[in-house]
Amino acid sequence: MSFKRYANAIISQPNIEFDRWMDELRTQHNGVVTKNSISRVAKIVLRKADPHQYLLSHVTIVASVDCYEPDGITTGKFLNRDIQCERRWKNFRIKSECEDIINNNQDAWERSLLLSTYRTFIGAPNYLEHIQIPELSKGFVVDTIARDLGETCYIDILVATDRKHKMLINDIMDENICAMSMGCISLFTICSKCGNVASDDSQLCPCILYDGKGSKFKDESGISHKIAELVGHVSVPNSNQFMDASWVRNPAFSGAQRRNILNPDTVSIASKLDEVSSVYAIKREN
Ligand SMILES: [Zn+2]
Repeated sequence: MSFKRYANAIISQPNIEFDRWMDELRTQHNGVVTKNSISRVAKIVLRKADPHQYLLSHVTIVASVDCYEPDGITTGKFLNRDIQCERRWKNFRIKSECEDIINNNQDAWERSLLLSTYRTFIGAPNYLEHIQIPELSKGFVVDTIARDLGETCYIDILVATDRKHKMLINDIMDENICAMSMGCISLFTICSKCGNVASDDSQLCPCILYDGKGSKFKDESGISHKIAELVGHVSVPNSNQFMDASWVRNPAFSGAQRRNILNPDTVSIASKLDEVSSVYAIKREN
């Protein structure tokens, strides 16, 4: 079993100059790379996505959180309010300073997990409204980079949307559609409060089932955190895979899909999504 997740982009900037992606973003943020490597990547990207045929968009799509091991924590099976749970890793607690990076669905990607899986974006289809039918694909993700900002790591993607979809291209250029949302599949999630590992809804812990994602709890030292689900774990290859990057008219709606399963009260979901818009708000860079 696996979970499907959706999350809104942090920043999307349609119609980016190809040179800007290569010179300002790829060169500066991809660690120590040789000129040869840069020009090789440039050639590959250009061969795959000629800007004359594709509208290129730069999207900051996901950000990482850092985690730590709570004091005295052990792995193995345990009872949480009479429900059998299992902790496989100790480093499941999200650092307080990373709380505002947890996305609007209360999902989070740990830094080393994200760095080991962000390249699964490459080649992922570009859909409209997450309609995942290959024949309806509007383009694809050409390239991706990780930007280390210290407190977090941003993953940027370069999305190519085929200009033959004239109505969609016009809507993007006229800013009728200016939001993007990504979809991913995770083999399991980890509760950031108790560390339980769940591969499907039947394995979710009471923290997520009853308290609810986004609700607050006090840790062993009295520090307040909110409950989130960590997607996958770095020690399990392919436990997180990015599946698509979609243009969306109403990002809150597509982001609400997963929570509908856990909590059918859509009114409270909508208000929660509005509340937590600080980092994952859709912004347009000028
Ligand atoms: Zn839990």
